[in-house]
Parts: sequence; structure tokens; C-alpha cells
Amino acid sequence: MTALKTMTAILAETEDPAWIFAVDGFEPMMESSVESRFAISNGFLGVRGGRSTTRGERWVIPARTYVAGLFDSPDVKQATQALVPAADWLSIRIVLPDGPLVRHPGDVPLHRMTLDMRRGALLSESHHLSTGDIGLCVRTLRLVSMSERAVGLQLIQLEVEHGEVDVTFEASAGGAGLGLATDRLDQTLGLWHTRYSGKRLALATKSSLQIDGQIVQPLSVGPLKWSWSWKTRPGQLASFERFVAIVRMDSLELDPGPPARDKLGLAQRAGWRGVVTAHEAAWTSRWLCSDVTIAGDVDAQHALRFAVYHLNGAANPADERVSIGARALTGDDYHGHVFWDTEIFLLPFYILTWPEAARTLLMYRFHTLAGARAKAAEMGWRGALYAWESAGTGAEMTPEQVIGPDRKLVAVLCGRQEQHISADVAYAVWQYWHATGDVDFLLEAGAEILLETGRFWASRAGLEADGHSHIRGVIGPDEYHEDIDDNAFTNVMARWNIRRALDTAALLRERWPARWKVLASRLGLDDTELGQWRNVAEAMKTGFDAKTGLFEQFSGYFDLEDIDLKNYSGRSVPMDVVLGRERTQHSQVVKQADVVALLGLLPEEFEGDSAAKNFRYYSSRCGHGSSLSPAMHGLVAARLGDTATALRFFRQTAAIDLSAKRVGSAGGIHIAAQGGIWMMLVLGFAGLSLRSDGLSIDPHLPAGWESIAFSVQWRGRHVKIKINRNERRINATLEAGEPMILFAGGKPNHLTCSAASSPISW
Ligand code: BGC
Ligand code: BGC
Repeated sequence: MTALKTMTAILAETEDPAWIFAVDGFEPMMESSVESRFAISNGFLGVRGGRSTTRGERWVIPARTYVAGLFDSPDVKQATQALVPAADWLSIRIVLPDGPLVRHPGDVPLHRMTLDMRRGALLSESHHLSTGDIGLCVRTLRLVSMSERAVGLQLIQLEVEHGEVDVTFEASAGGAGLGLATDRLDQTLGLWHTRYSGKRLALATKSSLQIDGQIVQPLSVGPLKWSWSWKTRPGQLASFERFVAIVRMDSLELDPGPPARDKLGLAQRAGWRGVVTAHEAAWTSRWLCSDVTIAGDVDAQHALRFAVYHLNGAANPADERVSIGARALTGDDYHGHVFWDTEIFLLPFYILTWPEAARTLLMYRFHTLAGARAKAAEMGWRGALYAWESAGTGAEMTPEQVIGPDRKLVAVLCGRQEQHISADVAYAVWQYWHATGDVDFLLEAGAEILLETGRFWASRAGLEADGHSHIRGVIGPDEYHEDIDDNAFTNVMARWNIRRALDTAALLRERWPARWKVLASRLGLDDTELGQWRNVAEAMKTGFDAKTGLFEQFSGYFDLEDIDLKNYSGRSVPMDVVLGRERTQHSQVVKQADVVALLGLLPEEFEGDSAAKNFRYYSSRCGHGSSLSPAMHGLVAARLGDTATALRFFRQTAAIDLSAKRVGSAGGIHIAAQGGIWMMLVLGFAGLSLRSDGLSIDPHLPAGWESIAFSVQWRGRHVKIKINRNERRINATLEAGEPMILFAGGKPNHLTCSAASSPISW
């Protein structure tokens, strides 16, 4: 039997620096970004890395707990929903005879906060020496359980280094007034509801404190608040533990109180050791499926761990009613709204390392089909047009105006015009189906999404007198250019979407005719309509010019002012701010990967050297005004074998949330950029792609990287792949599942579970 871990051991950080991020001291300008970066999350609860010991009043920036799916609108008229923070359940106040121990976060002379990614926990250690009368060392741990997502745990150890004084320790949970209406607050339970979206929230909590192993009874109590007082003495050890269980209900009729109490009871019975052990075991199993190692580049390794840590924390395979917002649960920029980021930048990771989570995220799109159908119908089209920004219901949430960089209001047309989102959702559904062979999903949900999005595009693209189908009045991924016609990304993705919808119809008809009958009749689909889809797809205008090998990003793009971005390389603001909105719109400056994104998603649409040509042309015109952009460029550059450029984009992407100087993550980490990090590694440098008869790899590792290793899942198999650069050797191990083929350099290699595969050369 292993010895029970002491609280001191649990509060110590993982020793290997590759698994941790630590920050020492207090830097007011960086604090908010650090809070985002050091957030802990389990896909249901997300807690920013704010400090918990307070002087008792509000901090400048309160610690924030987000609950996935807890959206509300600010008033009845205003339809845009935003994520509402839940109660801050981590608040601590330590009061000495002359006032609070901490008056300001910067007060603490020695403070270190550590994100322990291996364990999915946030730790801190601070030494309070300034008061003279008492010396205290305070160590803390917080986690939101990966094995029981409703549960949060906070542990605090107070070691008295010197001093004999009266001390009061208060623990409270508050601040839920920010957006929730209170139904009930008592000692151990808080109940709230959202004002307009019909959601309820419960927080059940219990705390206790021991001094030198003896339980101390709380002195005074109030709603969700405890307080203990005692006299310190040198060498004394006070240990505090707090459990919470948080439950969201999506109907005002359902009481989240009883399940919250039940879950709290279970956690308490397991004890903090039990909660920590189950949580760490769940993280270990996530890491087993998703860890990526890089030999030869410490910074890249660190960036990957950070990316995979946040990706694993962002999803919840048990809740089909939520998806992942642009900042995951680490901050409220973009109000928690879900964009194409999820399907295009996150789903590859989930599909290949956590198919259960991928399925759930796609089920969210299935459950929000009604919203997508309503949006298409309202705009006069058929099928499903997904919301550019989606929240709880699938209704369009894009604000109609935002404040621009010059502090003036600008109209946002994305909610009506950025329609490629529908093809992006279809793309992810198809990739999931292709990678997993999950028939139940296809029949229950995936086919309907593919058919309804295909139908949308067939109605959206008009066959015109020139014999082509055109899609007019859209915004592509490059949002600097609005209301454009025939955006290559949109049109080629739309054509691909219609074709996959037709494939789906053919597949169902052949293999599951009974299901096809039911679905076709429910959707009112017949052969005439399918024929019309085919005609629209075949006539789709793509903007491809065979003479130059270039796609024109949209109709008229090549006639716009060509600006040499090299002249602006020292800028610190986006290009649309440098040039102004007007001039940007009339220039070839691109906000983010657009044709390059098409190349990233559908490389087969680019023949011969047209891939390299388009990459060269568009990458030199891209201002990377979105955090999504460098990763897509890095992925494409790696596939093209330009590893130096790819590595530059990789580092640029890693810096988005990790640079010591950047404060841009204050509103949350850029989870799509984190997904992009993983994509660059696995789909770019390793060159992994899906085939119908197996997986294929085509490695291009940058100079200096000795080897990379990662795990993926494919149709029920678990494969571990290690690529050694200098020896040009691949070791592939099938860890579970039926024999399969791994293609390397186009040559098949048979993998079986029983036999270790011989190294493959490339
Ligand atoms: C983004 C759009 C978004 C809009 C409103 C802009 O900054 O680029 O994608 O729809 O904000 O949220
Ligand atoms: C980008 C969009 C993205 C959104 C949320 C915008 O700035 O242009 O492509 O979906 O941010 O990350």
C-alpha cells in the first residue's frame, strides 16, 4: 500500500519544469493575462488564475469562475447572450490584529504561482514577512475535477514561521450578483437563476479547518461563509479544505440544489485525497492519449504542453448542449461565443485524441440545427445556415456593432455575411466520420447536418447567365473585405460541402436504406433536389486561374491596391489600424489565412505547384490580424516542406498566449491558436492525414528538432508515433485495436498490436 500523501506533498509542484509554468511576484500590467494563462478548467467549470487571498473587498479584477453554457442576455430586448460568471468560491481573507494580512495583491513580497499542467492544478506559495508580528507561509492548491466535473477543491496550508497573534481566517463565496438573480443563500447552498435565458445554478459548498491535525469549529457563520479564529504559535500548521459542487440546469422547472448537494456529499466522503487522486488519474489518462513530446526544442515542448493542457481542459464529453467559446472557459472576450474556431482549429485535436469529446462538440451543432434552419429561412434560403457566433440556442449572437480601434462604432456584418461557418461545421462532421467510422453518430446526427448544410449552399449559390454558380455578398475568413462576391474559400468549401452531402445521401441509400427513407422523407429530399445540388456544385465559380495557378481570393481582389507589407514590419498594431478601415478594404491586405486556409483544409483542391504559388502570394499579403492566422500558415508551410517558415509561424502562434510581454490574453487564452499549435505539429510537421484505408504520414521536421512523438486514434485504434529526424526513422506502435495500415512516403506499413513494428524509414 502506498502511504497516504500529506497535504504538504500535494501542495508541491511537479518537479520536471517541462510540465509547469510559474510566475513570481506581481506585475499589474500582466496580471490579467496571467490569470487567463493559468486558468484551470474541466470543460464544465473554468476558473481564472486570480489570487484567492484578498483584503475582503473587491479586487480590481475579481477571480472568475465560468460555467459552460451559463449564458444570459443583459435585457429582454437585447438578444445577444453572454457568459455570466458564477460565484467566486475561492475567496479567502486572513485578518491579523492590525487588519487584513493582504491589502493589495502586490503586498506579498514573495509570491509564486504555478500551473501544474500534468496534474491540472493551480498552486501558489507566498511568504508574508512584512508585518513583523508574524511570519506566515501560505500554500494553496485549486482544481476543478476532471473526473467529476461539478466538483471544485481548494486546499490551503498556513505555516506559522514566527509570531503569537490572534488570527481570523474567513472563507466565503460571493460576487454572483454580477449577472445572476439570487433565489436562496444559506450556509452551504447558493441558488441563482439567469434573468432571461431560463437557466438555474446551484453551488453547494463545505469547508473545514484543522490546526495541527485538530478540527476547529467555525466561530461565526453566514451564507456561504465560514470564519475561524485562533492564536498562532511558531511551527503551527493550519490546513484548510473547501469543496464545492456546481450544477447548471437548463430549465427554471428543474432544481439544481439536490444534485449539487449529492455531488458535494460524494466529494466530501471521498475526502480531498480521494478527489485529488481521481482528478489526477483522469488527467493522466488524458495525457496518455494526447501528450506530445519534442526532443531538441525546450520552448516548443513547453508551448505544446500548454496547448494540450488547455485543449484537454476545454471540452466536456458529457454535455452535448455546449461547445467551446473563442476563449474557452478562461475569460469572457467574445462573451463565450462559439465560432468556426471550434470546428476548424479544435476538432482535429479532439477527433484524433479524444473522439468522445469531438462527438459531443458536434452534437452541439446537431442540437442547434433548429437555430441554423431558422437563420437560413429568415434570410430567404433553405437548409441550415449556422450562426457566425453561437451561444446557448444556436440563434445568431453576433453583435451588430462593436467599438473599433478608433473608439468609433463600426457595424459588424459577420452575423449576416460570414457564412462559411456552415461549410466549416460540415467539414468537421465529415472528418469525424472519416476518422472514427462512428455509424451511430452519422445516422443520428451527422448525416442530417451534412444534408442540411449542403442544401443551404445549393439554395444560396445561384446559377447565373454565365453558366456559373455564384455566392454573392459574403465575408470570407479575411474579415477586412466585406460584402464580396465569390470568396474562393467560401465557394470551394461550399462545393465540397454539397459534394459530401451527395456522398452522404448515396451512402445512406446504399448501406442504410431504411434510415435514408425516414430521413429523406422528414427533410423532404428527393432526386430532383439532389440533381439540382449536383448542378450547382459542378458549376461553382472558384476563382482559380489556370494560367497563374492562383485562386483569386474574391471577385475583383487582384484589382485592389497591392501594398508591400515588408514596409510595415515594425508595426505594433494590426494593419487595418495602420492603414485605416477604408484603405484596408480597398487593398489586397488580408486579415488572416483565407486562400491559405483553403489550402490547409482541402489541399487536394490545389494541383501541382499551385499550392506553393498560392501560399507565396497570399502569405506575403497577410497581416495576421487574427490569432488564428499564423497557425494555418505554419501548417501549410510545414506540409510544403518549408520548415524554417513553419517554425517561425509556430513560434509566433506560441507567443500569442505565452509571450512575457503580451497583455493580449487578458480576456482569455486564444484556444484556436492552441488548437493550431497541435495541428502544426501533428498535421504539419508530422504530415499526418486521414485516408479511407489507414493513416498517412509525411514528416518535415525543422532543423534542431531531433524527434517528435504523439498519439492518435483512428477507427478504434490507438497508435503512438515517434519520428526521428536525423535517422529518418519512424516508430509506430499500435497500442489497441485491430491491425491497420500506416502509410509513410506513400508506402503501406502493417501495424498489429501483438508485434512491435519494425522502424519505418522515410
Ligand atoms: C471579429 C468578428 C466578430 C465581431 C463581433 C470581430 O472582432 O473579427 O468575427 O463577429 O468581432 O464579435
Ligand atoms: C477572427 C475570426 C475568429 C474570431 C474568434 C476574429 O478576429 O477573424 O476568424 O473566428 O476572431 O476567434
